[in-house]
Amino acid sequence: MQKLGSYLAGAWSQGAGARMALVNPATEEPLADVASGGHDLAAAFAHARETGARELGARTFAERAALLSALAKAIHGAREELLALAVANGGNTRGDAKFDIDGGALTLGHYAELGEKLGAAPLLPDGDAIQVGRTARMGGQHVWARRRGVAVHINAFNFPGWGLCEKLAPALLAGMPVIAKPATATALVAHRLVELFAPLLPPGALQLLVGPAGDLLDHVRTGDVVAFTGGSATARSLRVHPAIADHAVRLNVEADSLNAAVLGPDVELTSETGALFLADVVRDMTQKTGQKCTAIRRVLVPAAREAEVCDALRERLGAIVVGDPAQDNVRMGPVATAQQLRDVREGIARLAAATDSVFGGTGETAHAKGYFVGPVVRSTKTPMTCAPLHAHEIFGPVVTVGIYDGDAGEAAAFVAKGEGCLVSSAYSDERDWVARFVGGAGAWAGRLYLGSSKMAAQSPGPGTALPSLLHGGPGRAGGGEELGGIRGLHGYMQRVALEGDASVLKSLLG
Ligand code: NAP
Repeated sequence: MQKLGSYLAGAWSQGAGARMALVNPATEEPLADVASGGHDLAAAFAHARETGARELGARTFAERAALLSALAKAIHGAREELLALAVANGGNTRGDAKFDIDGGALTLGHYAELGEKLGAAPLLPDGDAIQVGRTARMGGQHVWARRRGVAVHINAFNFPGWGLCEKLAPALLAGMPVIAKPATATALVAHRLVELFAPLLPPGALQLLVGPAGDLLDHVRTGDVVAFTGGSATARSLRVHPAIADHAVRLNVEADSLNAAVLGPDVELTSETGALFLADVVRDMTQKTGQKCTAIRRVLVPAAREAEVCDALRERLGAIVVGDPAQDNVRMGPVATAQQLRDVREGIARLAAATDSVFGGTGETAHAKGYFVGPVVRSTKTPMTCAPLHAHEIFGPVVTVGIYDGDAGEAAAFVAKGEGCLVSSAYSDERDWVARFVGGAGAWAGRLYLGSSKMAAQSPGPGTALPSLLHGGPGRAGGGEELGGIRGLHGYMQRVALEGDASVLKSLLG
């Protein structure tokens, strides 16, 4: 069995202590194991602060962009091997695995292109110069300056490839060395990626800790950034971590999300917009077995369309083959871990007590081994007061369909009931309705996806986080912000207001 090591202070090390197994969630067979501790993390932070920061700081944006380009190429070169690891260790179908691995390469490529354009800029401008004195001579200019510190990246189990890359790309481009900690259960992909990436990067630019976090966060200091993706309970413990609090360490949280999809009152299910809505709901339920932070969980449809929507979902989900994703005919694999299966089952039971079954009952399947749960659709006639629908994220292939009278304000209030989400979507070709929806729902989502007939043919769906658009959301979703093109760099830079002779300020921007 493969023994996964951590890449710390310039060397691979096995750590010490009891070893934890990584398994294939479809067969429960062990694939690899990792140590539960025993790493010198103080040395890893010193290596990042001294060597990694110096090496990255000596390079321009364009030179750091070239590094990202090399990483993207390395993924392309090892694509088949990486896809196979994602299938074995993540319960991914080949399509799911591509979403993770190709998404990682795409994000690195996006930041490589952005960085090339930034060239050798010493600072990044934030808005235009302003006059702050009596005359134009006395000016002000906000800029983004390089941060001196270490970026600690803690990722969730569901996107070991994309998750590593979407955090790594903006951090390295901004000039911050990274210590990455993937979720233990699915760490095979991230581990292989770091094996590929490390020789292509300057010393200290990227380190990897596999296995539990241990005392990782005790070492963070002023100037460091912790970017966390995972559950809200873990996020809560990070928010009050003494080292993070004492040193005012910047903490970015990407957590749970009860994403909503609303069908506008103008949309016939047989129209392009209607077809897009159905395809998006089914894709989000089944892709990655619903283990996407951006997946649709709550669906709202006009009362007159409820039966039609439920019939269409029954028909489409009935054709999904659930099983070992290593088999070609399988369209949906297991959830990633035994704990994940327990959590999903508990979530369905809570929901089942307050809703009616439309499809899949409580998700039981006939598999003797593996962490399988079938697609589940529930329904409620009282979506605004159905407490479990808005209180718990079920991180699996489960949606609930509620009904409304078609009012855009009510649709926005439904989104708001989730208390902050990464993304929510509305499907309508009626511009006034869409404007009212956006006006009401904008406060509650990091991204609003507006499905319509005009964009249906080229839409990646709400579940795809694009590198050019913001990822993150208010409230329950953690309050964080990642990606969004150049905005993604800002989390790893320091905003400074410069005040002085306007011509000096201009020259500083190069
Ligand atoms: P999790 O249990 O919170 O774990 C997330 C990460 O935190 C893992 O790497 C975990 O390591 C690490 N961790 C756990 N305790 C820690 C501690 N005390 N200090 C430092 N690190 C610690 O979440 P998960 O089960 O992997 O992921 C599922 C959740 O992630 C879902 O709720 C989902 O909504 C959320 N998610 C959100 C987004 C987003 O972008 N908003 C994306 C994906 C997933 P170990 O694996 O070693 O325990």
